Amino acid sequence: MKALVFGSLNIDYVYRVPHFVAKGETLSSFSLEKYCGGKGLNQAVALSRAGMDTWMAGAVGEDGDFLLEELRSAGVDTSLVCRGTIPTGHAIIQNSPDGDNAIVLFGGANRSVTKEQAQEVLRHFARGDLLLLQNEISSLQAIVSLARERGMRIALNPSPMDAPLIRELLKDVDLLLLNRVEAAQLLGEESGTAESRLEKLHEEYPEITIVLTLGEDGSLLRGKDLKLRQRAFPVRAVDTTGAGDTFTGFFLASLLQSSDAARALRCAAAAAALAVTRPGAAPSIPRLDEVLRMLEGEES
Ligand code: ADP
Repeated sequence: MKALVFGSLNIDYVYRVPHFVAKGETLSSFSLEKYCGGKGLNQAVALSRAGMDTWMAGAVGEDGDFLLEELRSAGVDTSLVCRGTIPTGHAIIQNSPDGDNAIVLFGGANRSVTKEQAQEVLRHFARGDLLLLQNEISSLQAIVSLARERGMRIALNPSPMDAPLIRELLKDVDLLLLNRVEAAQLLGEESGTAESRLEKLHEEYPEITIVLTLGEDGSLLRGKDLKLRQRAFPVRAVDTTGAGDTFTGFFLASLLQSSDAARALRCAAAAAALAVTRPGAAPSIPRLDEVLRMLEGEES
């Protein structure tokens, strides 16, 4: 069984600045750091570290080679990523001394994914293989319908949320993984508890297995005849960037390998807890052996 992440690859440029740049101002920054980003890239790294045979598809520009290196060093096959002339998707992040961020996003190559590219990529996959998507690339509808025709299992992390598009995609999705904010946005409501939102989504989409993550409050799962709750592992959080991506990768890998949803939630929670104890996104994603050691420690 193979896993395909068809998703975003991003460069995060972090500039340390004395204050956010104002209208008409030209501001010198103290420093520039460059990081790998994109939910697609992070989730592919997580799936691969969790032991899945993982492929990444998407698009980068000539400036994106180090992202492919990062993926390959995590064991991900990058031969299906297009390398073209449109610059790699990136974020320009101003980081102020009091720790606030102001961010300019450029979709770049991520928004250049076409139906033709999807056709070329998906012919390498077959019934039972996993397709994992987020909402940071173009042509999602075409990708989903082609994957459905091939009998792939489709998992969706609807981030960033675009309710009309996501509702369209949900007609063909098997697994939905989302956080509290995304659940509220999808339902278009401010009020309600996590449990009530999950129940509403389950009523609307009874065929889909839905996982709702709640940060430090853990996670909930609802599927056909299945209702589970998993607490978060208590850790000292250093940086929660990438917690959700780590959770998604480890949950899906464990579910596909064991068919045991409770075990998959526990594995995902342990992996995400390890990730929040380390700085960064992709570099903070643990290896499977570290996660298994944490789970053994908890069971003994
Ligand atoms: P996202 O990053 O997508 O917003 P969440 O914040 O819901 O996702 O986090 C995903 C999962 O990561 C949670 O269900 C939990 O298991 C784990 N997690 C997040 N924050 C913490 C934390 N501070 N301590 C331990 N685990 C955490």
